[in-house]
Amino acid sequence: MSEEDVEVDISPLEIESDISPPLINCPNCEGLLPLGLGTKTCTLCGAVANVEHEATRKEWAQERFACPNCSKVLVCGVEERPAKVACSSCSNQIVVKPKVVKVEITCPSCDRRLRLRPRPGSRQITCPACDDEFKVTF
Ligand SMILES: [Zn+2]
Ligand SMILES: [Zn+2]
Ligand SMILES: [Zn+2]
Repeated sequence: MSEEDVEVDISPLEIESDISPPLINCPNCEGLLPLGLGTKTCTLCGAVANVEHEATRKEWAQERFACPNCSKVLVCGVEERPAKVACSSCSNQIVVKPKVVKVEITCPSCDRRLRLRPRPGSRQITCPACDDEFKVTF
């Protein structure tokens, strides 16, 4: 059997979760920890922190979404992201990906609001409105 014989698309269906994990700061250096729950290693100082947030886990387990294949509304039932859920109607596997978290910051020069994906540490940003460069730290 050659590879061309494989026609079935086995890549799972994917949707994005609507519920963001909390932004947690490192207890050691105050920098932003990697997003998500569970054991996280600070990318800035290497400290290991156990990030738990029961309310988020509960919301994740209760999150409802429509199956991308057959539109049946499903309850996720899994207290972590990403989660793999089998549709009860079409039995496709659906991967619920973590929400892409964005935070709003304001350009110090022109007051324009910008939305950024938070990443631990400092980085240089160029404002798309006024071309001014400034530094953000999470
Ligand atoms: Zn740290
Ligand atoms: Zn389905
Ligand atoms: Zn600006």
